[in-house]
Amino acid sequence: MRLALIAHDEKKDDLIEFARAHEEWLSEAELMATGTTGKRLMEATDLDVERKASGPLGGDMQIGGEIADGDCEGLIFLRDPLTAQPHEPDVSALLRICDVHDTPLATNEASATFLLEGLFADDR
Ligand code: PGA
Repeated sequence: MRLALIAHDEKKDDLIEFARAHEEWLSEAELMATGTTGKRLMEATDLDVERKASGPLGGDMQIGGEIADGDCEGLIFLRDPLTAQPHEPDVSALLRICDVHDTPLATNEASATFLLEGLFADDR
């Protein structure tokens, strides 16, 4: 199981909290993340995370490529809905490619919890 994790700057603390709360499940997956998100996650947890480029430098697109290749089973992307992102076109493309491939995508903590429960609960 390969999963991708991304959080915009205002949401990185929330993602770390979330990862700590779900560390047992997340440690069963192969994780990838955009650059800064991955760095923060590895500093704050014992999770091993493959770091892509930082989001604004193309990390979103690299993760989109993994999804297009069928190499990523789910994306948790805690977005900041209140701050304009300079790389918004890449963000939109990433969300779109999830829809193209019917890849589970969660953009807030409540749906991220459901995503992990769906993938991991009852050993599914
Ligand atoms: P970052 O990228 O983890 O490198 O900050 C996230 C993003 O803004 O898409």
